[in-house]
Amino acid sequence: MADNIGSGTSTAVASYLYLDGNRFRLRVNFISVETLRRVKDVEFMGGNPALDFADTIGGFLVDEPAVEDELLREYEDLVEFGLKTGTLSERSAWRLRRAARERPEEAERVLEDARAKRALIDAAFRPLSEGAEPPAPVLAELRDFGAEALTHCELAPSGDGFGCAWEHCEDLEAPLWPIAHAALELLTDGPLDRIKTCGRCRWLFIDTTKNHSRRWCSTEGCGTDEKKERYVARRRARRARSSSA
Ligand SMILES: [Zn+2]
Repeated sequence: MADNIGSGTSTAVASYLYLDGNRFRLRVNFISVETLRRVKDVEFMGGNPALDFADTIGGFLVDEPAVEDELLREYEDLVEFGLKTGTLSERSAWRLRRAARERPEEAERVLEDARAKRALIDAAFRPLSEGAEPPAPVLAELRDFGAEALTHCELAPSGDGFGCAWEHCEDLEAPLWPIAHAALELLTDGPLDRIKTCGRCRWLFIDTTKNHSRRWCSTEGCGTDEKKERYVARRRARRARSSSA
């Protein structure tokens, strides 16, 4: 069973499994085993590719991210993210995978850069989720990131007009361009007043509920965990009260 730890796969003996927004927890014969999740296993809930990208690191907001909170562990994770969020086509993914196999050192550098860009997106949108403005240097860096994406894009027919596409881009950084573009569009067009941080974990999302009432990245994950913990705390308080009476 220990072989399954970190493999990201579930086992036939798992009696139940649930998502808490950041990781799988398997309960196997009363032993709880956490496995490292992969991008392809994750249901992103940011509502925008830029926020989904910021959410490729999880864990509780108050804690330093742990190893298992990191979803960008290899270049392939960037490709998977693109496929998952529809920002990369299958053809581009195939080309990028081949290029990454041919140029592994460059792929590793791009992965490092991707993590830095993720931190940049977080630094821009997390203050907005708290009603504050992002710091000026962060905005300047985000503008440069967006400008770089535009430099690499081709204008291709999209809907009634034209849109930015990176379909023929051979660059290993190609998975980052649509993310940069989405971040810039979100920043300029909003809805900025709908950007929120989960009440429990690090994840950012756009609240699309009518009355701006969404508190959790997901009701099944963090929302349920929070309810469970409140229930346990209430029971504990009740028991303490009855034993001291
Ligand atoms: Zn959450």
